[in-house]
Amino acid sequence: MTSKKAVILLSGGLDSATTLAYAISKDYSVYALTFNYGQRHAREVVAARELAAHYKIETHKLLNLDLQAIGRSALLDHTKELPMNRPLDKLSNEIPETYVPARNIIMLSYGLSWAESIDAESVFIGVNSIDYSGYPDCRPEFLSTFQHAAELGTKTGVEGKPIKLEFPLINLTKAEIIKLGVELGVPFGLTWSCYRGSAKACGKCDSCQLRLKGFEEAGIDDEIDYDEM
Ligand SMILES: [Zn+2]
Repeated sequence: MTSKKAVILLSGGLDSATTLAYAISKDYSVYALTFNYGQRHAREVVAARELAAHYKIETHKLLNLDLQAIGRSALLDHTKELPMNRPLDKLSNEIPETYVPARNIIMLSYGLSWAESIDAESVFIGVNSIDYSGYPDCRPEFLSTFQHAAELGTKTGVEGKPIKLEFPLINLTKAEIIKLGVELGVPFGLTWSCYRGSAKACGKCDSCQLRLKGFEEAGIDDEIDYDEM
């Protein structure tokens, strides 16, 4: 039996699925945390549930956060248009409408709180700063500073056993993440990346575009269904 515990933020996308498989491969006993934060659709929450079931995760918590009540974002406001067909070279250079204010600060704080409560060693998050949408809370500078805050602002940190923030995908391209996931046996067909929540992925939002480019560069078929393009 493994005894070291880790909390993992499991969104249901391919990055968090790969991070989950990575943590399991490192012999962590995994506690998965998914947020229903008022995103446009529950499709990714379904994906998170299916991934947790696939990996037989005993403790998978779904937390409701009402970010719709306070947050301004195209992911929270269903009347806003989602950016579609943005040129890929622009994605990392400007912060899009889909940015959810301080989302990773909020979610990591919950993950940290749970980790400290169950004596976990680590919190895993599947963020990536190469093939991404330019969100500031996905960058290594932010993550190392959050680690510092966790050391100063928790009991375990003050007592000299700080919880470690793990972000193993941070410097990988989407294609490299997909290849790592294939090595680890990630069931990518269960993951969901599209910002829209229809039966099929749109293929045009930033998240679909990055996913499609990643699979193409990796030379691997994406098993999920897309709208006719
Ligand atoms: Zn999409």
